[in-house]
Amino acid sequence: MNNTTKDIVAKYGFRFTKSLGQNFLVDMNIVSDIVAGAGITKDDHVIEIGPGVGTLTEALLQAAGKVTAIELDSKLIPILEEELKGYDNFTLIHGDATKVDLEAIAKGDNIKLVANLPYYVTTPIITKLLNDQVKFHSLTIMIQKEVADRMNAGPGTKDYGSLSVLVQYYCDSRIIRSVPPESFIPRPKVDSTVIRLTKLDTPRAFVKDEELFFKLVRQVFNMRRKTLANNLKAMGYSKEFIEEALTKAGIDIKARGETLTVERFADLANTIKELGKGEDK
Ligand code: SAM
Repeated sequence: MNNTTKDIVAKYGFRFTKSLGQNFLVDMNIVSDIVAGAGITKDDHVIEIGPGVGTLTEALLQAAGKVTAIELDSKLIPILEEELKGYDNFTLIHGDATKVDLEAIAKGDNIKLVANLPYYVTTPIITKLLNDQVKFHSLTIMIQKEVADRMNAGPGTKDYGSLSVLVQYYCDSRIIRSVPPESFIPRPKVDSTVIRLTKLDTPRAFVKDEELFFKLVRQVFNMRRKTLANNLKAMGYSKEFIEEALTKAGIDIKARGETLTVERFADLANTIKELGKGEDK
C-alpha cells in the first residue's frame, strides 16, 4: 500500500462527492496492473476519464507518450494542476466525459482509453464509444464486477445480455484482475473488476442492417425467457415469416435468443433483412 492518494486528500482537505462515484485507488499494485493491462507504451496517447486526485494519471504519464484526462469535479481541477504540473505530456479537461467530443480530443490518434469509472457513467460512455464509431484502440476500465461479468459473458449464461452482444460485436474482452473494496478510499460496497476491451478492426460479424440487429438483440433480452419465435412475434412479424426466417437462418424454432452467439444474431438479422417483408403491422 502507498499513501499518496491519502496524503493528497489530506493535504487539500478534499471532501468526497458520493454522487460522482468518488472512490479513489490507494493500492499502487492495482495502479501498476491497470497500466500494464492496458499495454501502455511511449507511443500511446491515453485518455483517462475521471482522474480523481491523479494517482493512476501519474502512472499513466510515466508510461505513455501523452495523457489527456477529463474530470467533471471542479474541486479536483486545481489539485490535479498542482500535483501533475511537472509533466509536460499532460492535458487536463474540465468536463463531462459523456458529453465531450472524444474524436476532437483524440486528434486522429489511435487512443487507449483508461478509466476507473462510476457505475452510472460506464454504460453511456461505452455505448457512446461503440455506437458513435469513435476511433480507439482499447478501453481498459475498472468497473463494478457484475458489469464486467456481463460484458464478458457467453451465450446461455445468466449474465449474457444486450451489453455482452454490444461489447462482443465490436471488441475482444479480457478480464485483467479483480479489485477488493479495501483498495479504495472510501470503500465502495461492491467488488470491482478491471477489464480490457480491444476494438476489433471490423465487427465480429457481418451485419447488413445494424439498427435491425440491435433492435432484435434488445427485444430478445427484454423478454429473455421467451422463445425467439415469440420475441419475433412481439416485433410484429407473422407466424409464417418467423418460421421461414428461422429455418433459413438454420435456427431451431424452439430456440431461445439468449443462446445465440453474436454471429448467430447476425445471421438471423441478415435473413430477416433479406426476406424483407413479413411484418404483421
Ligand atoms: N481515477 C481515480 C482513481 O482511480 O483513484 C478516481 C476514480 S473515481 C472512481 C471516479 C472519478 O470520475 C472521480 O474523480 C469523479 O469526479 C469522476 N467523474 C464522475 N463522473 C464523471 C463524468 N461524467 N465525467 C468525467 N469525470 C467524472
